[in-house]
Amino acid sequence: MPKTLIEPFRIKSIEPIRMTTRAERERLLEEARLNVFKLRAEDVLIDWLTDSGTGAMSAHQWAAIMEGDESYAGARSFFRLEKVIQDITGMPHFVPTHQGRAAEKVLFTAVCKKGDLVPNNCHFDTTRGNLEYLGVEAVDLVVPEGLQPATIAPFKGNIDLDRVEAVLQKEGARIPFGMLTVTNNTGGGQPVSMANIRAYAALLRKYGKPFIMDVCRFAENAMFIKMRESGYENTSVRDIAREMFSYADGATMSAKKDGMVNIGGFIVLRSDEWLDEVRSDLIMMEGFPTYGGMAGRDLEALAVGLQEGLDEDYLRYRLRTAEYLGEKLEAAGVGFVKPTGGHAVYIDARTVLPDMPVQHYPAWALCNALYLEGGIRGVEIGSVMFGKRLGDGTETYHSMELVRLAFPRRMYTQSHFDYAAEVIAEVKQKAAGIRGVKITKQPRFLRHFTCECAWV
Ligand SMILES: *Cc1c(COP(=O)(O)O)cnc(C)c1O
Repeated sequence: MPKTLIEPFRIKSIEPIRMTTRAERERLLEEARLNVFKLRAEDVLIDWLTDSGTGAMSAHQWAAIMEGDESYAGARSFFRLEKVIQDITGMPHFVPTHQGRAAEKVLFTAVCKKGDLVPNNCHFDTTRGNLEYLGVEAVDLVVPEGLQPATIAPFKGNIDLDRVEAVLQKEGARIPFGMLTVTNNTGGGQPVSMANIRAYAALLRKYGKPFIMDVCRFAENAMFIKMRESGYENTSVRDIAREMFSYADGATMSAKKDGMVNIGGFIVLRSDEWLDEVRSDLIMMEGFPTYGGMAGRDLEALAVGLQEGLDEDYLRYRLRTAEYLGEKLEAAGVGFVKPTGGHAVYIDARTVLPDMPVQHYPAWALCNALYLEGGIRGVEIGSVMFGKRLGDGTETYHSMELVRLAFPRRMYTQSHFDYAAEVIAEVKQKAAGIRGVKITKQPRFLRHFTCECAWV
């Protein structure tokens, strides 16, 4: 067998991307106030801002879109998708929403109350936001290696079972359910092992707590289990996914990830205990129970996308792309979160800009440098995103300075990755010339999206 792992598809419809000159990019970035979120997408050559809803749909999905039944109630498209989801998850109850955060909002509003506490490996930011909005404490209990970028371990997304048990003992009365995010997005797209899922489920059962999974990247997680956990080498990813779901009582999903669609989400539940409450909140917030927040055509595209997302040739290629870029960065002496996760590579900006003070936001500076050098857009996960300006004008800083390059599904080819690796290596060569920034204008919350900066 040839060793080259190829994209397991060929291109039927293309979307041109535009090269810009360095001078143009300098002007465009200045106009964007040195914030890549403010760039127009068409001025970006390789857009690795996020893998959420940005992927390419297949010919089968586009064909299914024509089959969409747009009836308000009881649409055929709902029942088609319901059957696919029941088959994959083994859960009888399916509630469609327009995206993942809506699934969270509907479920949490139905079953959480002020003063509650929810444990998770790491809450994704919308999950945390939805809980905190309801006055619920969101507690992150990932294993210690999950917070160490350079430590290589197969399942850095695992939840720390000892700390979970301590929380269950101490705070049990406040806990409506336990959560687990697969893969652990906030922690670098790192997977959770089947052993950890099983043990966490048993622990929650012992304390009489339901188990809700955040399954945005369940297929990528299942593939990691197949590749890394002994005993699963010969199990199909579909069966691994089914086993993962078998331990849970329910799940929330952003279909914009492993659903392979541009918009969509859902809740699944095993028992009907919460169902009436969930459906009445759904009607208030999203729509009638047979479409939730989606058009009939979106339900059809998702029914196909969920199955394509479990294709093992696709998943092997998918996980390999991140690993491949990791190998090239290693060769260029650029540090990153190891091992590479499922959907993204997280560059450790301190390895490129070791002498830049944190006050000049090295990860933000690196992000800007990648755009200036090669038209690549990533996202800073550092002190602009997680630091704060306090009332007295002083600043807090994040413990890590990372740049996340997240890969849309089925969109970029190997030459795009080769190009990106070359740009990153070039940026490292020229690191001495990279300028830091200061923030000149910022909103009170989520400042990275809209803040304005200037060169220091
Ligand atoms: C994207 C994401 C969500 C939220 O989903 P949206 O579709 O963006 O609303 C929730 N949890 C995780 C782990 C995610 O990656």
